Amino acid sequence: MSVRYSIVIPAYNEELVIEESYKRLKSVMDTTNEEYELIFVNDGSRDKTGEMLSSLCDKDKNVKMIDFSRNFGHQTAITAGMDNSSGQAVVVIDADLQDPPEVILDMIKKWKEGYDVVYGKRAKRKGETFFKLFTAKVFYRFLKSMTSVDIPVDTGDFRLIDRKVCDELSALTEKNRYVRGLVSWVGFKQTDVTYIREERFAGETKYPLKKMIKFAMDGLTAFSYKPLKLSSLLGAVLSVSSIIWLIVSVLIKYVGNASVPGWACAISIPLFFNGLILMMLGIMGEYIGRIYDESKNRPLYIIREKKGFSDGENC
Ligand code: UDP
Ligand code: MG
Repeated sequence: MSVRYSIVIPAYNEELVIEESYKRLKSVMDTTNEEYELIFVNDGSRDKTGEMLSSLCDKDKNVKMIDFSRNFGHQTAITAGMDNSSGQAVVVIDADLQDPPEVILDMIKKWKEGYDVVYGKRAKRKGETFFKLFTAKVFYRFLKSMTSVDIPVDTGDFRLIDRKVCDELSALTEKNRYVRGLVSWVGFKQTDVTYIREERFAGETKYPLKKMIKFAMDGLTAFSYKPLKLSSLLGAVLSVSSIIWLIVSVLIKYVGNASVPGWACAISIPLFFNGLILMMLGIMGEYIGRIYDESKNRPLYIIREKKGFSDGENC
């Protein structure tokens, strides 16, 4: 049975926020007077998130849960929620209330005006560390300069997408997903609503530096070959420079009649270039690892249990 709106909420160890998140989402969605479903994806939480979601499903028929067999990651959780949604419009929102649920109503308004994708643009981000704000700002701009796909800066995954966009996304099988980039890639009529990103309601970020780096590499490698091209360019520039330097050294020795000093250079220059070569190999490795993931063709996620979905729905 299809509903008007599906709200997809990924949750990983969010026992401190789940209850409040449900209440806020429910009160906002009730005001639409239209049918909706809240699809919580429990991404292998090790705290009480799963149990709490399960009892919400028992209490409220609008609540559904997808329970992963382990932690598959935020982007995969979002994908599973979308794959299992039935709404004519699908909204993705974090569980921690950093994205205010009230903004969904503005998104719905734009959708009703005829837009297929309405993404939340962060005018301000409260309560986040200087490091996070700085790296996010630099990364989004860097990514934009590296890719031909127009991925809007300062946006997260908080967005509304139309059913047809959701179906196109579900048809993409790539493994290391950078969902916000894929949404731009599929196209359709897109617009934004600006909002102030709040502080986390409770608990702490589930994105430590290691996950942030993996996420950034997924975005970069999925949408740009430029790092590979830059390697060749850098290689060419360095080769030409070394030839010029060789000629200059010979001239200094035989024309200028002076010797070129340099055992320190003889050690540090090869070290520098070996470092560069290993870095380039590392960049190639990032792409090759992702090709390997694709070739293994494992499923994107494994579901332990689905709760609240009516029989046969979206399976
Ligand atoms: N999340 C998830 N799986 C993960 C990490 C995060 O489902 O492996 C969820 C998390 O519960 C939250 C959303 O993704 O609903 C965004 O995570 P978080 O708020 O920790 O990220 P931040 O806002 O700090 O970037
Ligand atoms: Mg957050």
